[in-house]
Amino acid sequence: MDSKQTVLQKLNKKSISAKDIANQFWCEKQMELYYTHPAKMTYAMEQGSAIHGKMQEEVYVPLTVEPTSWPDRLYKSAYENLATLSTLLKDKLAREFKIYGSLHGYSVVGQIDELRMVNGKVTIVENKTTDPGRKLESEYIRPHVVQVMLYRWLMDDIKNKQYQYQNFSISYHSDTLKLSEKFIEGLNSIGVKEDLMTLNGIYNKMFNAVVALPELNNNLLVHYLDRRTRQSITEMNVPYDPKAMNKDIIYAMKYWSGEREASPVPESEKWKCKICRFYGKECTAWWTG
Ligand code: SF4
Repeated sequence: MDSKQTVLQKLNKKSISAKDIANQFWCEKQMELYYTHPAKMTYAMEQGSAIHGKMQEEVYVPLTVEPTSWPDRLYKSAYENLATLSTLLKDKLAREFKIYGSLHGYSVVGQIDELRMVNGKVTIVENKTTDPGRKLESEYIRPHVVQVMLYRWLMDDIKNKQYQYQNFSISYHSDTLKLSEKFIEGLNSIGVKEDLMTLNGIYNKMFNAVVALPELNNNLLVHYLDRRTRQSITEMNVPYDPKAMNKDIIYAMKYWSGEREASPVPESEKWKCKICRFYGKECTAWWTG
């Protein structure tokens, strides 16, 4: 890579996704190669996204006004987040909450699959598809655990006002972004109030709505679903461990800051290479020929 290029530039990204960080705990090298050598969607990926689409439809209240620009889309995301939070409080269940935050000065985004009220607490749920009968050994579940803990970490930052709309505004330059006229007309037609007609207005309200949520649950859930039938297989409880999460974040961010190169899997996990499409091609870390 060009020595002046940052890791985000090399991967052609503006922010880090929570999924990227989770995937670093499967194989960091593979996560990087997926960006530098993109492929068409695999069957497993299609199945996964179909399930997410289907589950979201069940409890989703979309914004009927069509965005026509990047600022419009950013607005839509906050508007829908607000709808998701009110659905959560009303129905005790809501899907697809877009989360924004910052780690070591880098913007991080993610999409929480599901929020549930359990014993009066907001519970974060991550849905994963798998094959029935597949053993949920620690190496397999590691990225899932990291992902759900990271969502909890980012939610905490918002709830404790460590990350507020001002932080968001600086990262996304939202006070300089203008909504399209057509979009504003649409918002008017559905009765959106004047003070919520700007990105800052809607994000301020959205971040405040997270602050006002009931307590976050320290018990996180990873819900495994059958890749084909979409039936529930099992739900795994993940106790939130902020110390462990902090350690994982420090490790992960050393890659994003360029302090170290992407690591291949350790020798004890080289079985993963057999199911990796880069094995023996773009990656020869454990290639025996
Ligand atoms: S071949 Fe192995 S080490 Fe290389 S990217 Fe794939 S999983 Fe990682």
